[in-house]
Amino acid sequence: WAKADGKSRWTLFDPERNAHRITRQALSSTLRPAVERGEFALEYQPLVCMEDGGVSGVEALVRWNHPQFGTLTPNRFIGLAEEDGSIVQLGRWVLATACRQARRWQLDHPDAEPIFVSVNVAVRQVWDSDLVADVAATLAETGLAPHLLQLELTESAVMGSAGRPLQTLQALSDMGVRIAIDDFGTGYSNLAYLSRLPVSVLKLDGSFVRGFQFESAENGAGADARSNPADEVVVEAMIQLAHRLGLTVTAECVETAGQASRLRRIGCDTGQGWLYSRPVTPDRISALLRSACART
Ligand code: C2E
Ligand code: MG
Ligand code: MG
Ligand code: MG
Repeated sequence: WAKADGKSRWTLFDPERNAHRITRQALSSTLRPAVERGEFALEYQPLVCMEDGGVSGVEALVRWNHPQFGTLTPNRFIGLAEEDGSIVQLGRWVLATACRQARRWQLDHPDAEPIFVSVNVAVRQVWDSDLVADVAATLAETGLAPHLLQLELTESAVMGSAGRPLQTLQALSDMGVRIAIDDFGTGYSNLAYLSRLPVSVLKLDGSFVRGFQFESAENGAGADARSNPADEVVVEAMIQLAHRLGLTVTAECVETAGQASRLRRIGCDTGQGWLYSRPVTPDRISALLRSACART
């Protein structure tokens, strides 16, 4: 009875795995129409200047308000959308929505310094769609200035393939759009190669920051038992090299004041994480822009 699909009965009758498979099927079959039904929404997480604590931009993060499963975070569906190609359509929606929102903030808060919006781009958007044309059209339609758009691509989207990705990055960069490498340090980590691409920002993967588990020495605590000084040396060297190559560095997953002060001391330019803010709805970003104006 367990040999039906040639797998062990544990696989076949593990209810959790079974549930997982059912949700997977249910999700992938409803992804495409869900874009049209408007079931997706964006949250925005502040990108904070480590020097003065000001918000210079926000990262757009997609959520799926699923009628049956509730709010789903991207790790539940981005992989599926990449597999079946619906990421191209979803990605277009994300780009247009984020740019429209960034322009909206700028119009609603004319006295605030405009903030940029950073949009995640999947590998397939670089290969299977005309990303350059989509970005150009979106900027024209929304009226957002190109320098207020940043695109986040992973190393795997740009490495080892000189042709199409390079042309795409070059065209976007010529347009004035900023390119960031997302989750940096989890892939090939070839900084020398990256520096030859039109890339201007490195987003250090959260796994590096997580190594910064200790309190800062000024607090009198010194490094505690969980400290991992080797990580700090590596991160400091990466930041220095990035700066020498003309790149700025954003750290992901900054959760504690101790991590932030360490990162600041070793020259990290921008921080993102729960310490500053969780991803929030657009009106919360508006409130932030209002209070920033009131302070100046
Ligand atoms: P990412 O681009 O590296 O985005 C950062 C992720 O870290 C977000 O997860 C964010 O909520 C989470 N995060 C932020 N601060 C902290 C922190 O202090 N601690 C911890 N533990 N996590 C933090 P989220 O929103 O679940 O997104 C996961 C991934 O899904 C993103 O990773 C990105 O690769 C992908 N993604 C999100 N939105 C889009 C999209 O519109 N298009 C594409 N292609 N991918 C997207
Ligand atoms: Mg990202
Ligand atoms: Mg990232
Ligand atoms: Mg990440």
